[in-house]
Amino acid sequence: MNIRENVPISKLTTMRLGGNARYVVEINELSDIPEAYKFAAERKLPTFILGGGANTIGRDEGFFGVILLNKLKGIDVISETSDEVVVRAMGGEAWDDLVNFCSERGYSGIETMSKIPGTVGAAPVQNIGAYGQDISQVLESVEAFDRQTHELVVIGKEDMNMSYRSTIFNTGKDAGRYFIVAVTLILENDASLEPPFYNSLQKYLDENHITDYSPMSIRRAVAEIRADKLPDPEKEASSGSFFKNIYLTKEQEVEAKNNNLKIWEKPDGKKMINSGYLIEGAGLKGAELYGMKVSDKAALVLINKSAKSYSDLDRARTEIQKKVQEKYGFLLEQEPVEIQSGEK
Ligand SMILES: Cc1cc2nc3c(=O)[nH]c(=O)nc-3n(C[C@H](O)[C@H](O)[C@H](O)COP(=O)(O)OP(=O)(O)OC[C@H]3O[C@@H](n4cnc5c(N)ncnc54)[C@H](O)[C@@H]3O)c2cc1C
Repeated sequence: MNIRENVPISKLTTMRLGGNARYVVEINELSDIPEAYKFAAERKLPTFILGGGANTIGRDEGFFGVILLNKLKGIDVISETSDEVVVRAMGGEAWDDLVNFCSERGYSGIETMSKIPGTVGAAPVQNIGAYGQDISQVLESVEAFDRQTHELVVIGKEDMNMSYRSTIFNTGKDAGRYFIVAVTLILENDASLEPPFYNSLQKYLDENHITDYSPMSIRRAVAEIRADKLPDPEKEASSGSFFKNIYLTKEQEVEAKNNNLKIWEKPDGKKMINSGYLIEGAGLKGAELYGMKVSDKAALVLINKSAKSYSDLDRARTEIQKKVQEKYGFLLEQEPVEIQSGEK
């Protein structure tokens, strides 16, 4: 078990903020997980599971606890028929490597989720999604270490309560209980998606006269769109979408219509307002606040241009939330998770 001391959280997360974590333990094999929890328990320290840090923000005071850094590797095809394939990937694999692995082989079901930063193990936590697909559509189960019973368990999708950016892993009494070790997906073999696609993807395909809808072709298209619109975590610090979109209750929908707001209808019939549209409407697209820039390409994305501390981010967030709430009455909810400091 590789243990490091006093590691800056800013170096482990894509927003690049946050003070030191007291300990970081690398999880390279399954037996490291109970050992890491034992190490923390012996010192009476809190723990935090980290993958790529693409949806996690560190605070200035750091974390007086133990970060378990998931490095478990491996991707395997478990079974394959002419129309279905079952793929199992270890949680520490890069999510996009898994998408590439599947797309290259013609397995369809995750290709529009190309280039989402982070690990496979984190993907079910907030039910990642992009361009019309989310992981709940193809997830079969996860294998996880249960911190309560200290056992490896298999959790079927039906027990994960998955909805937009929410699952049992991040919401409710079991949030933080499971360390996701591996993920099993059921994909379509030798298949292509059918148009119509998500608006911006369809527009790109039409403009570029692309009629090959194979997983690899769609993967390339999504990668191009994302490269143009979203910050590359290697080059620019961000956590991707900083705020969640707003799913409307019936009353909110009526009110939004009365206020002439644009409402998006999702394939499942749910009505949504894109929070980026509200941020733009509040005149904040492209604005730079306390070193944090509201992306001029996707207003939902905050880019850390020169903020040095979490408190800069805090001030920028408060100002954006206040302006949007004053204009539209909606309180924007943050998407990325924060590492709470732990007690000294
Ligand atoms: C530029 C950019 C674009 C993005 N685009 C998208 C997008 O299109 N769609 C989308 O859904 N998200 C997007 N994101 C957010 C992010 O990529 C996803 O949330 C991703 O799943 C985070 O993976 P990670 O390994 O970095 O998670 P981390 O940030 O390391 O962890 C996120 C949360 O999951 C928990 N966790 C991590 N690993 C495990 C595990 N093995 N077991 C249990 N809990 C775990 C952590 O404790 C934390 O609460 C984007 C982020 C960036 C920076």
